[in-house]
Amino acid sequence: GRRQARPLLDRVRDAGGVLGPGAAAGHHPEAEDAGDVKAAIDRVLASGWFVLGPEVEAFESEFAAASQVPHAVGVGTGTDAITLILRALGIGAGDEVITPPLSAAYSALAIMMAGARPVFTDIDPERLTLDPELVEAAITSRTRAIMPVHLYGQAANMRALEAIARRRNLALIEDAAQAHLATADGRPVGTIGIAAATSFYPTKNLGAAGDGGAVLTRDAQLAARIKRLRNGGQVTRYQHDEFGVNSRLDELQAAILRARLKYLPAWTAARRAIAKRYRAALVDTGALTVPREYDAGHVYHLFPVMAEARDRFQAHMKERGIETLIHYPVPIPRQPALQSTSPAMCAIADRVCAQVVSLPMYPGLSDGQITAVAEAAAAFGG
Ligand SMILES: *Cc1c(COP(=O)(O)O)cnc(C)c1O
Repeated sequence: GRRQARPLLDRVRDAGGVLGPGAAAGHHPEAEDAGDVKAAIDRVLASGWFVLGPEVEAFESEFAAASQVPHAVGVGTGTDAITLILRALGIGAGDEVITPPLSAAYSALAIMMAGARPVFTDIDPERLTLDPELVEAAITSRTRAIMPVHLYGQAANMRALEAIARRRNLALIEDAAQAHLATADGRPVGTIGIAAATSFYPTKNLGAAGDGGAVLTRDAQLAARIKRLRNGGQVTRYQHDEFGVNSRLDELQAAILRARLKYLPAWTAARRAIAKRYRAALVDTGALTVPREYDAGHVYHLFPVMAEARDRFQAHMKERGIETLIHYPVPIPRQPALQSTSPAMCAIADRVCAQVVSLPMYPGLSDGQITAVAEAAAAFGG
């Protein structure tokens, strides 16, 4: 029989992966893409070709075109995409990469996987992305790259970061795992830095039915190098010229992503429309602060608000049947696994992590549900 779709309001999307597979938006049996996804799976099963084949190749060119970036390389995860960019640039042991304390921990773990050291500089208190004003002071003789995160779907302040990277001769790498099809000042993410990493974890704006990731870049040589590195460093079959890894997007995931990519522009438009309605409803509430939109290219992976009385706000929403989640409860350098990496100067991230809370945000929200969330949030008195 058909599986019952869970109530949409229960299925708040979570970039951290707390909810199970059925929780990802657009992935329930009644989703509009379900027929296309099934056909894609059948096509791959019938072909008998599962790793590095025609589906991955087609997805790479379709995703690159949709993203307005010349090259896309499919890899195993978003985390691997970051690590492989760093490795392809020769960044590793002894090197430092400047990155924000507010993100999924994988941003920084990926830097460590490459053998480099993440150096955390604080976020802009309003934009919530890497603060360019603080980056310059963190640069040392070991710094090789700056990796901003386009958090919640909104690009970091790339003009300012670009200027610093150029002046100090550093690589600029974009963590675009939450920013599919986003732009920064009208420029597609992935075309500003040397490369961008993105993820197809099921809850991302474009999600697979498992893990997946990609590197986007303008640089043909870098793309070619990452294609070798993801496949054991092979140049031709059984000839391993460099120390590569096994991190390939598989044919099933690529075919599913091709099916869903067709819907991504409409899904992105739906997210923006939801954000617009939330902003209109919440603009004047004192107990909640809604971060401003700094870039019209925002793709609203999440819709965070700030509540000083966050516990009470979450309880208030829950009483009304609305689940909220926290992205993220702890600055990355405060995680036990990363405490040895750098002295953490992140007072702003500390405050944001104590107050930030995500409202339901995914394309399947109905008009009535959007209204219910907006009204419930607006009614919160602190
Ligand atoms: C999801 C995410 C990652 C990691 O991607 P995976 O595919 O889960 O490895 C990295 N950075 C950010 C900002 C993310 O949201």
